[in-house]
Amino acid sequence: MNLDIKQQQLLRTLPRVDNIFEKFKNEPDYEEIPNSVLTDSIRKTIEILRESVLTNPGAVTEHTLTETSVIQLVKKQIKAEMSYNLKPLINGTGVVVHTNLGRSLLAQQAIDNISCISGLYSNLEFNLNLGKRGIRYSSIEDILCKISGAEAAMAVNNNAAAVLLCLDTLAAGKQAIVSRGELVEIGGSFRIPDVMAKTGAILKEVGTTNRTHLRDYENAIEADTGLMLKVHTSNYSIVGFTASVSLKELVELGGKHKIPVMEDLGSGTFIDFSKYKMIKEPTVQESVAAGVDIVTFSGDKLLGGPQAGLIVGKKEYLDKIKKNPLTRALRIDKMTLAALEATLGLYRDPEKVVQTIPTLKMLTCSLSYIEQKAVQFFKSMQSHKKISIKILDLSSKVGGGSLPLQEIPSKCAAIEIENISPNALEKLMREHNPPIIGRIENNCFILDFRTIQECEILVIEIAFKDILERREQ
Ligand SMILES: *Cc1c(COP(=O)(O)O)cnc(C)c1O
Repeated sequence: MNLDIKQQQLLRTLPRVDNIFEKFKNEPDYEEIPNSVLTDSIRKTIEILRESVLTNPGAVTEHTLTETSVIQLVKKQIKAEMSYNLKPLINGTGVVVHTNLGRSLLAQQAIDNISCISGLYSNLEFNLNLGKRGIRYSSIEDILCKISGAEAAMAVNNNAAAVLLCLDTLAAGKQAIVSRGELVEIGGSFRIPDVMAKTGAILKEVGTTNRTHLRDYENAIEADTGLMLKVHTSNYSIVGFTASVSLKELVELGGKHKIPVMEDLGSGTFIDFSKYKMIKEPTVQESVAAGVDIVTFSGDKLLGGPQAGLIVGKKEYLDKIKKNPLTRALRIDKMTLAALEATLGLYRDPEKVVQTIPTLKMLTCSLSYIEQKAVQFFKSMQSHKKISIKILDLSSKVGGGSLPLQEIPSKCAAIEIENISPNALEKLMREHNPPIIGRIENNCFILDFRTIQECEILVIEIAFKDILERREQ
């Protein structure tokens, strides 16, 4: 590469790693920084500067390469190196159970219990009455049975694991009958037929996409039928000329032929959402009351707890599932159990639970509460001339593949800043610290105040003021 004289000069001015390293010895705030982080940060900074000299020399001056200004850049690099990759952000998308953004926020009681249990020894697998080895699920089995009405219960890593484990226990090498209308794919490549193939269960599809009748199931039953599976079509809806078999009818058929019936409820909720002017989502209690042998559902969707897969049902089948060696590979950890027990505890008060569990609170809160948050933001930004904010009546989504047709009326801020395109604004907010994630709708940057917590409004105000100030410079 041919370097001009200016570039050669600049390259010679680049400070040496050792010299900068020495300077940091006198920086009181940096004593705790590990040497490896310090050297890495210095090397990286100098490397970036060298690259700029070579590729974009106009952007670099002697001034950029003085020790003082390099030290400033190294400090920024150290900050980046020392911060965690997994970090909190502000969800302004209006999607309450947002799988990419961590699904459910835990209730305070669950957070407190995680920090209590995780720093100390516990009776995770120790029976304090008998003084010997105990069972991991015992902390949550009773309460799960009490809330759902089931005989027995356990929990694994997530609902995908729960489905896998149940199919493997009850249907490996046997036929599992599923309606063609329920061969669900959820995000992240979880497909019922593929999961089934992994367990060695043989998928027996019955009916058609839009209509499946009881006789379809009955005609498919053979000597090697191990299971009838019902899957809640959580993330889509088949409408029009449709027919499906109710869980109750399927349970009766299963009873007649001594074939267990399992249901994958997906979200799984203990709350009847129709009480809150929303579309009804089948509840776990209803499935248990219909006589299902096994139900599986997620811990972090509509339940509002930690990531977990919950299995409730008849003791006869749960006993078999608990003995499957796969449970060891799919087992739930102590932090999750701590959060789960605390979350389930909140369901003992069904009136209050929609306040104490953040996911339920965000889904059922009043429109005026959301408006109040939006207006607070609007007022704080009013004095800025270069920003225009409109409060709009738009809709939030439940997310997590739950209640796909449900549009929940919400209050959103549509934000425009002079000379910044909506996409550029979206990017600026996403790259802010903490990141603020909105959505683009009708070519406007939108923040939905349903999923924005009260304490976050100030953080958003600061972010916008910061952007506006930098524009003015
Ligand atoms: C979400 C979902 C799953 C997977 O649950 P995870 O907890 O995400 O593993 C399985 N089945 C259905 C029907 C679902 O909606």
